[in-house]
Amino acid sequence: MEGGIEREQLLGELRSRVADERVIAAVAAVPRELFIAPALQRFAYVDRPLPIGGGQTISQPSLVAHMCELLELSADDVVLDVGTGSGYHAALLSRLCRHVYGVELDVELAEQAARSLELAGIENVTVVAGDGGAGLPEHAPFDAINVAATATGEVPAPLEEQLAIGGRLIAPVARDGQEQLVLGRRRPGGVERTLLDPVRFVPLR
Ligand code: SAH
Repeated sequence: MEGGIEREQLLGELRSRVADERVIAAVAAVPRELFIAPALQRFAYVDRPLPIGGGQTISQPSLVAHMCELLELSADDVVLDVGTGSGYHAALLSRLCRHVYGVELDVELAEQAARSLELAGIENVTVVAGDGGAGLPEHAPFDAINVAATATGEVPAPLEEQLAIGGRLIAPVARDGQEQLVLGRRRPGGVERTLLDPVRFVPLR
């Protein structure tokens, strides 16, 4: 196995930080090296962000796992992934739900993500090239929405509108010079939002 010892070490660290066993199992099952450039393979199982081309980055595995856990996914859920990038985050999500629709603005990254997902043998992710800020109304509502690029001010309204009642949304939002993860939950009367950890993501364009 690629990076066997480091992979075990990373899983060990995640076990102390992530309570949801299914998320740990997803990290264990998805080969991260398939989603990064050959020159960076030696860092595949180091807990740090890595460049994925086009000036974009893939977050560190512990943050990706944490975000997956916060979405409280069920096997039957349909998930929207905004800013699919390398496809790694979508790959983890795909192990925790029924189907993932990934939207990536950069066409080359979208094509590469689709190839990596295929190589990983993952068949329940559809990657679409386009502006994820508009969501994917044709496949809405979503049980959960994952956003991997920072919106300024607020989570884009179309995303909250495309959440099913009871649906969860996790997104980095920048406000007053502070960048934080926001967890949203759609209730019949509106979206209830909770501010979580400070984070750093690339901007949503
Ligand atoms: N989740 C990715 C990391 C993404 S980095 C992974 O696992 O690799 C953020 C990504 O968001 C970048 O690839 C960037 O091109 C994309 N992005 C930025 N603005 C976007 C938008 N409006 N719609 C869709 N994708 C966007």
